[in-house]
Amino acid sequence: MSTRSLLGAAVFVLVFLCYGANVEAQSGNSGKKFERDFHNDEGGSIQFSTEPDAEARAEFDRILASGGLGRVSADNRIRLRATTEIKYARAAVNDDDIPIVYYNPNLIRDIRRKSDNQWVLITVLAHEIGHHANRQLPSVGHALEYELEADCFAGVTLRRLSATMEQARSAMQAIAPLKGDETHPGLDDRVQAISAGWADSTACVHAPAEILGQTDNSCGGTVVKVAGRDRCLKPLETFKDCIDCPTMVVIPAGSFTMGSSDYKNESPPHEVTFRRPFAISRTIVTGLQYQYCVDVGRCAPGSLQSSRWNSDPAFRSTLGYRRLWAKWTEPGHPIVGVSWNDAQRYSGWLKAKTGQDYRLPSEAEWERAARGGVAGVNYWWGNQYDSEMANGHGGDPVTTPVESYPGHPYGLFDMAGNAFQWVDDCWHDNYAGQPANGAAWKTNCSSNGKYVMRGGSFASEPDGLHSSRRYLGRPDDRVFLLSFRLARTL
Ligand SMILES: [Zn+2]
Repeated sequence: MSTRSLLGAAVFVLVFLCYGANVEAQSGNSGKKFERDFHNDEGGSIQFSTEPDAEARAEFDRILASGGLGRVSADNRIRLRATTEIKYARAAVNDDDIPIVYYNPNLIRDIRRKSDNQWVLITVLAHEIGHHANRQLPSVGHALEYELEADCFAGVTLRRLSATMEQARSAMQAIAPLKGDETHPGLDDRVQAISAGWADSTACVHAPAEILGQTDNSCGGTVVKVAGRDRCLKPLETFKDCIDCPTMVVIPAGSFTMGSSDYKNESPPHEVTFRRPFAISRTIVTGLQYQYCVDVGRCAPGSLQSSRWNSDPAFRSTLGYRRLWAKWTEPGHPIVGVSWNDAQRYSGWLKAKTGQDYRLPSEAEWERAARGGVAGVNYWWGNQYDSEMANGHGGDPVTTPVESYPGHPYGLFDMAGNAFQWVDDCWHDNYAGQPANGAAWKTNCSSNGKYVMRGGSFASEPDGLHSSRRYLGRPDDRVFLLSFRLARTL
């Protein structure tokens, strides 16, 4: 900011209105008028402000800490000041570039009493802190967008302080006017923005990565060794480590809600946080990709036989059909008839071949990728089953080429339907005790000896294709509708 050069020695404060009207501000030294107001092009300053009350001070500190902003040196830390001269709150910067948040303690107390929503204060403060954190000073043409970004930041904050989605939404409903104007979006948009931030911190696209806990560095993405060279990869970019390697997609760091309350084994829904991005293969591994490993003697061919079921007459009688259903020798079809052990051998081969950490995805990685950043719905496209979106019930009664059903928000394919996919985790009856950091859950694997598969298949009913559905199998089961995809650590 070049305010000092523009205005010489004048002490001034830039204010961007968030909820209130134009008023005057008091700076550290004197009560000079604002030179500029970003929203209204009019001057204004706060004449009188005081130290915050203890509760606001405490909440303010909690918010700063939750966003990683509490460690900033005292000189540069965002200041909180109480004043009755504004309606709710506003963010401001003074002549020395010190960020300030003003709030009106009386009005906030009023709203909290009327709405009975204890999250209102945090929402108001977090929104203002969000303006500073995002380094977005509202200006002509950007005001609405910046308000939504600040709301998104508030959503991330509320979740980190353990508000529910419903509490976040109703706090916004208590403070934001129904109708928008030229400086503020309407209530629906703002509720959507705070929900989006609550559901997935990476939804707040303008918030600096270090605040959201994402991996970041000077390249603006993640430096990844690809085919021996350093590349800077941003979320959703793709790469390949070798000509016969699967295409990998960078899945952003951040949090999501895993599981559902539909079934006991998907319960409880819980938050999983990835501190770093990871990569997952864009498609299920195809028959051709798998064949490279078979050709060099490192993988066993897929098989429609089953060591467990070969003696079962019902299984044997359908073997002919299975040959029709599974088309892995045809171009682009998924490899099927591979066990968890087979999938481990394939990823081990690729790891040795590329020198990179190829592996099966953890169950959490798989579900994070499957949901595509869309929270609280059954499928990545919404709540209703749609046979145009996945090869499942109502689609082809055979495997389809792996890129047949596009549209996934992360650019992935078959995150519902076509073929079941092994993940690295062994089976547990519910999520109590699952790692919260997205790692594979590998404790007590020998006690039941079963492993997890996800995604459903071409033979699954709509209910079986939900992003949260879990299945289990023995590590040596080779099933005609069972396949896998790969992950890579970044
Ligand atoms: Zn604002």
